[in-house]
Amino acid sequence: MPLTTAAMPLQFDAATITRLSTSGPRYTSYPTADRFNPDFGYGSYLEAVAGQKMRGGGRGPLSLYVHIPFCDTVCYYCGCNKIVTKDRSKAATYLSYLKQEIGMQGKLFSGMNQLAQLHFGGGTPTYLSDRQMEELMAHLRENFAFAPDEEGEYSIEIDPRTVSRDRVHSLRAQGFNRVSLGVQDFDPDVQKAVNRIQPEAETLAVMQAARDAGFRSISIDLIYGLPKQTLDTMRQTMAKVIAAGPDRIALYNYAHLPHLFKPQRRILDADLPPANVKLDMLALCIRELTAAGYVYIGMDHFAKPDDDLAVAQRQGRLHRNFQGYSTHAEADLVAVGVSAIGSVGSTYSQNEKTLDAYYEKLDQGSLPVARGIKLNTDDLLRRLVIQKLMCNFELSIASIELAYPLRFADYFAAELEQLRALEQEGLVSIDSEWLSVTLKGRLVVRNICMVFDRYLGMPRAQDQGAANVQPLRYSKTI
Ligand code: SF4
Repeated sequence: MPLTTAAMPLQFDAATITRLSTSGPRYTSYPTADRFNPDFGYGSYLEAVAGQKMRGGGRGPLSLYVHIPFCDTVCYYCGCNKIVTKDRSKAATYLSYLKQEIGMQGKLFSGMNQLAQLHFGGGTPTYLSDRQMEELMAHLRENFAFAPDEEGEYSIEIDPRTVSRDRVHSLRAQGFNRVSLGVQDFDPDVQKAVNRIQPEAETLAVMQAARDAGFRSISIDLIYGLPKQTLDTMRQTMAKVIAAGPDRIALYNYAHLPHLFKPQRRILDADLPPANVKLDMLALCIRELTAAGYVYIGMDHFAKPDDDLAVAQRQGRLHRNFQGYSTHAEADLVAVGVSAIGSVGSTYSQNEKTLDAYYEKLDQGSLPVARGIKLNTDDLLRRLVIQKLMCNFELSIASIELAYPLRFADYFAAELEQLRALEQEGLVSIDSEWLSVTLKGRLVVRNICMVFDRYLGMPRAQDQGAANVQPLRYSKTI
């Protein structure tokens, strides 16, 4: 099986996509976050870190995720866990607790606190002032040993509306070397309909500033399916994005779930493009991006062929974690901040989701872990299978049989049976050595991964006997 299949173009098959368009996980973790349970708390987290220390220092250098939950104004499409406020004093309080948590994590990981990857997400990380960010980065450096700039990946999500050219240079000087810019759409009517007025010139100026400041990679987030979007506006936005030439593009499907996300109630149903137009928009974007030389990485992500993600994918080194795709396979992920999710050893853990609960646990002197999960052998095996399919679109059956004492065909007999139906539709190919996602199957890769998800449809332990169980917050595959 050639390693380069991942770089080939996609095959867009509207009928297959429409038929398989069902709610499904994005597999930034397996098991998915709705399976985390409150029995996993601070004590379980300490055990996980101690286990990594006993093994001689975890899985190589660490990844660190820092969550800044604040936003100045609300974007109506938003489904994130954020706090919309103009009261800046809230950020100052938050920072004092965040620093306390960073100090505790730094102590816990002492002796294995080498850092190769850092990501600031939100909310809006640039809600913090330049001074606050500088102090926070200095505090992080006191507690973690950063790899040199040319080796480490230090990224930050920037809302172009919140930064000046000087601020972008300042972020580079503070140690960030990758940026991801929230754009969503350049069309003024669409921006108005989602309450995110962001002039095109402003975004392009921030991109230029990032290039001038020496950022290694610039990524842009776009959304299709927003109110007032048409095939025409999408075509124009795409042309402008391609002309701007970011290294990576994330193209998300807008999932309209107003019963779950309050801001979305401000979006009029009548303004939303119908499903067939959304599909045409997706087809258009894929066509334009691949014609412009971008490689489909998988699950909404495109990159230039010489970008690290595309190179890692060609070499079979791509990994998937809570920030999407990553080149740092198998690193332990330490996550700080309200609602942040980390992954240490064979565990996942999530911090408290409200500021009050987050502050209360830190006031008590414990890390604010609210829930989590310790993976069993079956979880680890299925996680590996799903990771390989999501990242490489292929799975070496021999490599699984080498890592685990099992016969793939026996252990996954039921799953292989289900996959036969997908094989007949030309979405996967299966032989005794490889399970491969075809070019036609790539856009529905999560449907293929869902076959290996043991938990789908299974009630959660914490819901047993409970009334009013919330529906799972999965978005549609397309
Ligand atoms: S989309 Fe981003 S900037 Fe807008 S409200 Fe949500 S988290 Fe804040």
